[in-house]
Amino acid sequence: MISLFEIQKSAKVSLSNKNIFFDEIYFDSRNIITSRTGIFFCFENDEKKAKKYIIQALEKKCTVFVSKFSFSFPNSVEIIYDNPLELLQKCAKNYLEKFKHLEKIAITGSNGKTILKEWIYQSLKDKFSIVRSPKSYNSQIGLPLSILQTNENHNLGIFECGISKVNEMKCLQEILVPKIGILTNIGKAHLENFENEEELINEKIQLFKTCEIIIFCNENSKVENQLKKLNSKANFISFGKNEKANIQLLAVNSNTISVKLIDKFVDFKVVFTDDANVMNQLGLIALLNFYNVSINEIQEKLLHLEPIEMRLEVKNGIYNSIILNDTFNADLTSIPIAIQKLQHLNQKNKLVVITDIFESDKDENEVYQKVFNWLNDIELRHIYCVGTHINKYKKLIQHSVTFYESTEELIQKFNSKNLNDAAILIKGSRKFKLEKFAKTIEKQSHDTVLEVDLQAMLANLKFFKSKLKPTTKVMVMVKANSYGTGTYEVADFLEHHQMDYLGVAYADEGVQLREREISLPIMVMNPEQNSYDTIIDYQLEPEIYSIRVLKLFIEKLEEKAISQTYSIHIKLDTGMHRLGFSFDDLDELTTICKNNPNLLIKSIFTHLASTDENDVEFTEKQIKLYLKMYDFITQKLNVIPIRHVLNSHGVIHFPHHQMDMIRIGIGMYGFSSDEKTQSQLKNVVTLKTKISQVREIKQGESVSYNRRFIATETTKVATLPIGYADGISRKLGNGNFYVIINNQKAKTLGTICMDMMMVDISKINCQEGDEVIVYGENPSINEVAKICETITYEILTSIDSRVKRVYLH
Ligand SMILES: *Cc1c(COP(=O)(O)O)cnc(C)c1O
Repeated sequence: MISLFEIQKSAKVSLSNKNIFFDEIYFDSRNIITSRTGIFFCFENDEKKAKKYIIQALEKKCTVFVSKFSFSFPNSVEIIYDNPLELLQKCAKNYLEKFKHLEKIAITGSNGKTILKEWIYQSLKDKFSIVRSPKSYNSQIGLPLSILQTNENHNLGIFECGISKVNEMKCLQEILVPKIGILTNIGKAHLENFENEEELINEKIQLFKTCEIIIFCNENSKVENQLKKLNSKANFISFGKNEKANIQLLAVNSNTISVKLIDKFVDFKVVFTDDANVMNQLGLIALLNFYNVSINEIQEKLLHLEPIEMRLEVKNGIYNSIILNDTFNADLTSIPIAIQKLQHLNQKNKLVVITDIFESDKDENEVYQKVFNWLNDIELRHIYCVGTHINKYKKLIQHSVTFYESTEELIQKFNSKNLNDAAILIKGSRKFKLEKFAKTIEKQSHDTVLEVDLQAMLANLKFFKSKLKPTTKVMVMVKANSYGTGTYEVADFLEHHQMDYLGVAYADEGVQLREREISLPIMVMNPEQNSYDTIIDYQLEPEIYSIRVLKLFIEKLEEKAISQTYSIHIKLDTGMHRLGFSFDDLDELTTICKNNPNLLIKSIFTHLASTDENDVEFTEKQIKLYLKMYDFITQKLNVIPIRHVLNSHGVIHFPHHQMDMIRIGIGMYGFSSDEKTQSQLKNVVTLKTKISQVREIKQGESVSYNRRFIATETTKVATLPIGYADGISRKLGNGNFYVIINNQKAKTLGTICMDMMMVDISKINCQEGDEVIVYGENPSINEVAKICETITYEILTSIDSRVKRVYLH
């Protein structure tokens, strides 16, 4: 790992008296583990916030930090650098230059980077000592972090590089300077931030500017030309279906792929035959062939490739516990990430289940030493170890611990009472099948779940942010249970991703967030009079929309003897005619505010009645009125509150009116009424269930209440445990809608019941217990809304709270 001296050298500041080698680099003060030696890179641009985070770091005994601002705290080493991220990158570059004998492979492309990287690792780990990016650490921060894991023993580095904007790859290339470059396919991801596809390709291939060997997928015909223009000296190896490819795919059968390998024809037996993974395997074959791995050996490696599960599942468990389910692999790169995630959870009682770890290229003793060091460093109540190797290292564990030989034994002997209010991390090698254990402690309310993909939500936010100036603030609307997806979980996730404000409808939604330590400012849009006490007690910021509300709120502040300034938001009515001050109120409003200087007007805003393209004239009129009212207030009071008017659709159609902040809701949850925007958003919400029963009915028999469906031929019927009480509209019954079972459409049969519905599976090969996609990506919630003659907002918010929410991270 990197030392203080090295960082100071890169920063060109004078060296302190004492050198320190760091075990950890932190970017988020909440992740700091007191007993580790770490350095805190504070990326915060706001001085007040930066100070707060650095104080948090110091409290956790992390005394070395990099920041844009100097605070001169005692007993600390501060490295002042205008752009701390740039310094981190510089450090990584300088650090990497020490390892002259390290062969560097860089992988980029739209899809498949992580899986290809892991497969290369799986296939070459017996030949090289490899350092590689953990999980999909591939960003401007992820790459430097990956690089800093290198040590003298490594002779091969496999690094993933991902970009989303222009000019980012140049920066990654300069840090890494790889010798071998691999380009997986080019898809549509992030295309919105580029002029066109050529520009996107050109950006990605900057990574290969000085590569000696470039392995690339030539499915996209533009790639080859652009690559050769960029770097004429490299050796090129192409793969794909195209007949010009050096490694050409000829055919895919049920368990073989036929490949023309330069000049030989080979049939490889494979485990993965889906389109994406066939391409990933071609890329792998290309690299292995380049390393002169024999065809027999390549065949052997292909049969032993393991699938990669990259998502850490967070689920509710029995006894009010939280389960962190990461049961598909346990290796030294993914374990610390999982531990960090566990540490992040609020539950005081923390438990870990861990199995034998197989890292054939490393010394076993060293592997367990590392893992238990990580675990010893955090507060845990108990560790459950599973396997026949791990128990030999009992001495290394400082926590209370129990050993089991197998997952079966763990399931039998595990005392579920220990889960009371606990957070449990389940981390194991695939062969232990720990998911069986996870199932036994999951809360089994019913088979119906609403899956919320938080990464997709973040991608959607980034998409909207790309339409804004970097300085425009974002208020995220988490009202109505975050449009049905779960207030706390969504807010907690977003707080980690630098949003500026949260918006809720009612005070109690804000209270829920504060009680679970969400510290972002929260605006309450419907501050009811009987909730003013709570609003003030929990530091929520009310939307003040009338003279009456203003006066009442001031009274409450006086009654509670609040003397310091209190933040409020002024809502103006400019044409929506829902809530808000009208122009005539402004005289009185400003007079009252003048007399109450402890009211801090944080923002002044209005809501647009229509942000589609159809009502441009009306919208422009609203905005003009808003600006006039804003000027009136601010001139009278001599203040400059935040201005905001746009919602999600507003950002798409009126980006020139973004002002200081926007308020995003539906777009982040994956929906837009604008077709082009819709096609660029990721699906966030999926409603899933499982088949309860399957039966066959004969011609003339009927299904469900009032016999609305009569079979005209023998029909196979599946009953699903979901109905209108869960939020499935009765309009979707009687063949008006279909669900997806094993990738096929199953039409609804008869009327939807309160807790159940029936679908036609006559042509589908499926059985009881099989998964059913009720809606999500396909059928889309847009389709559902259309059939129900409503909008996506209503469909989302009508999913009943008894449907368990599951979060994908
Ligand atoms: C809900 C709401 C929004 C968000 O609207 P979307 O259309 O979901 O983006 C913005 N502003 C106000 C005042 C709202 O009530």
